[in-house]
Amino acid sequence: MGKQTVSRLALLGGRPVFGKSHRWPQWPAATRADERRLLAVVRSGQWGIGCPAIREFAERFARSLRARYVLPVATGTAALDLAVKAIGIGPGDEVIVPAYTFVATATCVLQMEAVPVFADIDPLTFNISPASVARLVTRRTRAIIPVHFGGNPCDMAALGKIARGRGVTIIEDAAHAHGMVYRGRAAGAIGDVGCFSFQSSKNMASGEGGALVTNHRRLFDLVQCFHSFGRLPRRGWYDHAALAWNYRMTGLQAALLLGQLERLEAQTRRRLANGRFLDVALAQLPGLTPQRLGEDHPRTRRAWHLYMLRYDAAYVGVGRDLFVQALRAEGVPASCGYPRPLQENAMFRERRFWHRQFLGDGPRRRGEPDFAAMETPVAKAYCAQAIWLPQQCLLASRTEMRGIFNAFAKVVENAGALRDWAAKRPSESGP
Ligand SMILES: *Cc1c(COP(=O)(O)O)cnc(C)c1O
Repeated sequence: MGKQTVSRLALLGGRPVFGKSHRWPQWPAATRADERRLLAVVRSGQWGIGCPAIREFAERFARSLRARYVLPVATGTAALDLAVKAIGIGPGDEVIVPAYTFVATATCVLQMEAVPVFADIDPLTFNISPASVARLVTRRTRAIIPVHFGGNPCDMAALGKIARGRGVTIIEDAAHAHGMVYRGRAAGAIGDVGCFSFQSSKNMASGEGGALVTNHRRLFDLVQCFHSFGRLPRRGWYDHAALAWNYRMTGLQAALLLGQLERLEAQTRRRLANGRFLDVALAQLPGLTPQRLGEDHPRTRRAWHLYMLRYDAAYVGVGRDLFVQALRAEGVPASCGYPRPLQENAMFRERRFWHRQFLGDGPRRRGEPDFAAMETPVAKAYCAQAIWLPQQCLLASRTEMRGIFNAFAKVVENAGALRDWAAKRPSESGP
């Protein structure tokens, strides 16, 4: 093969592994039965309060988690907001959250004028690091919000040990963890309270949606009150016992979720099998390290909301962003994930909050949190090295998994050819 051909292949990638006509499994997707259920709700005229589908979903979801109480809500954000509010977190309190997460994990804390304290992540599991949490606990710590990132179970035993005896509550952000099991307990039902999201991309989807899970009766009473304008059971419709908003789920969302829940187990198993296949296959390639399961336990099972890798450019020869671009050219819907640790966003760095105690802009005043000082080097390094594949890829066939491996292998190889070509170029210039 002439060097001209090698460089052209390397630069252009040749024929993509997945051509233009290739379709990854559609997500979200609904069956005929889902359509019938949705239509039944539409025709019933009970689209919101009182819709039997909402209660039915809450009961079935609770049973699947083996949890006492489930409150269906409008979004995952609503579930987190309610959890923090019901626990009674307020000004001066601190809540420890991972630096590698979606913004809602931290904004629920700010909402109550409390301070999110950002913990670093583990370099292999990409989950909140218990060692980092232990260093950040103070007298003011009221809660920890572990996120089972990508559906990978956090080290709940270590976090529980830190929390126990200190009056620290554990709120699970289970937005990635539908179907995840940790030592025999379902995600969302391990900590004191769990929060799910059913936003379109999540492993159970209803457009928007969320659920709060708990085994504590008093907490459940509070979130019920707070999710519907501060109403109390058996009191008047226009009696408002507490400052609260409307976070209710509609019957249309619940109708869709009944089918999503029915299919979750089979889909989780398929993602597991395909995820394990990719783990073994991709680990053979230089510079690629798949997210590691936090704990290998007979009764622990990850859920895989994202298929995640660490990419080490030094072993491959091209930068991460270019590598991801090349994967996309091969028809693999890869992405780079979060550009920076959460606390490095302007919202935090410049304290752009409305609260009087954190006015932002200009020098930090006494008592204001110093987010710039919350350094999380592992999360920061991972932001520059992450590759994500969306969960619906893992619902595809084994042949398509081999295709994903082939695409990675091809880009690694092309990157090597490109590197060799670039290294030789000065001496080989000319016609
Ligand atoms: C999606 C997500 C949320 C928020 O859920 P919404 O339903 O979009 O409000 C919270 N935390 C994490 C980790 C998420 O990925």
